[in-house]
Amino acid sequence: MKLHFLSTGIMECDHTWLLLQAGNTIKDRHHKHEPAAWGECPTHAILIETDDGRILWDTGVPRDWESRWAPTGFQDFFPVQEDPAGPGFIDSALADLELTPDDIDILVLSHLHFDHAANAKMFDNGKTRILVQSDEIEGVKTIDGAFKGAHLVSDFDGLNMEAVHGDTEIAPGVSVIFTPGHTWGTMSLRVDLPNDGTKIFTSDAVYMGASWGPPAIGAGIVWDSVGWLESVEKLRRIQEQTGAEVIFGHDSTQRESMKIAPNGFYS
Ligand SMILES: [Zn+2]
Repeated sequence: MKLHFLSTGIMECDHTWLLLQAGNTIKDRHHKHEPAAWGECPTHAILIETDDGRILWDTGVPRDWESRWAPTGFQDFFPVQEDPAGPGFIDSALADLELTPDDIDILVLSHLHFDHAANAKMFDNGKTRILVQSDEIEGVKTIDGAFKGAHLVSDFDGLNMEAVHGDTEIAPGVSVIFTPGHTWGTMSLRVDLPNDGTKIFTSDAVYMGASWGPPAIGAGIVWDSVGWLESVEKLRRIQEQTGAEVIFGHDSTQRESMKIAPNGFYS
């Protein structure tokens, strides 16, 4: 088994979105030079090559973020860095490994937010299975109009999504952990690697190391705060049982310590 950490675009934002601190107010890019917790908010995807096929976890941000996000206003709050020398997007990250979306057997979406599911339609090829937690599929059906919060309906409408229910093994050594709270059906990913040990990818169940604590510290965008806290404690129990390394959804400091594809992988 090989696990690749793919860089799929770096957003910037006021970290108050991710970690509420007393007295902080949320700022947009026009006010980013005023005292604020403005910083990087990187996104990633995980590619796992197994004997049974290739599994991809999440898809990062879209290339057309500025126009696609315009109806929501999020383009001002989460602008994506466009440094030609910087990290690319999911298509270029796969291309760096000489792969295309058609080479992916199973795409698992941690949840359907605009910075995770944005490129899911690239995988609508009649071949890639697209797995989403049942509660997330049901949740987005309640959205009236083009978007609600960070759920952008055009990212996933018409997509053939297969429901998974609760904690589920996707392949030997690869399973999803049901960690709702951030959204209706947010999932985390657990991978048991023969050499590098167990890794847990929390997606937005835990944004960054500072959210994890202990104590766990909540954030601006949480659908259900109590459910969120229960999910963090569930992950903490699994971490304590397995000694897993926990990789957070949007942690720029932790990212610096990761082997980023195509320059390395975990096995
Ligand atoms: Zn996110």
